[in-house]
Amino acid sequence: MSDQEVVKSHCNDCLQETRHFLLFTKTQDFTQLDPDGGPHYIEQFRWSLLECCGCESISLKREYTHSSLEEPEVDFFPPSASRKIPRWAMLTLCFKQGGAIYGLLQEVYSSLHAGHYRLAAMGTRALIEAVLMDALKNEDQGFPEKLDMVQERGLLSRQDRQILEAAIEAGHGAAHRAYAPRAEDVNKIIDIVEHLLESLYVLGPVGEKLKSTVPPRKGKSRGTIEGSAK
Ligand SMILES: [Zn+2]
Repeated sequence: MSDQEVVKSHCNDCLQETRHFLLFTKTQDFTQLDPDGGPHYIEQFRWSLLECCGCESISLKREYTHSSLEEPEVDFFPPSASRKIPRWAMLTLCFKQGGAIYGLLQEVYSSLHAGHYRLAAMGTRALIEAVLMDALKNEDQGFPEKLDMVQERGLLSRQDRQILEAAIEAGHGAAHRAYAPRAEDVNKIIDIVEHLLESLYVLGPVGEKLKSTVPPRKGKSRGTIEGSAK
């Protein structure tokens, strides 16, 4: 076992605080002294290169200390992540709308990780629009009309529509009404959008495939399950 110093830090792959090896550290000191030799103000950057003891991922931590700050400001490169793009998303979405849907999802995540929550909320609105365009084969309509059409085609339940409208409204508020969502708000909006993506592109096709492989009941047409009629 190495005698390398170990510190606790957030890991973007483990998505929690883990033990990290401190691989390298350097302090840059820009402290200014008074003519009598005392510190006029203190200013320091402390850089730490870290490696997660579990998954071996590498991150760079920067701590900025200034005498005007009560506590050091801490940044990570890459930025500290609270969630990851779902595993199913890349293979399922990368060719939808010429890659725009997956590209927008990536940019929403980048904005979230960088703390740009307004941009993340605006991005989810653009993402929903791209998904609706894909579902409607690029029929150009306003948001309410698009939602009507998707709902009429059975791709969206009434409850899902209400949830989606809340996400669209949040994106509109961030763009036009000085709405400043917090990290937890953006996480909820992303939950909503990923639910839509998974319903349309993953669960829908899986359900169709499953239905086509199950032998129909004798005397009943395929797709009708006894007792399921509303
Ligand atoms: Zn890790």
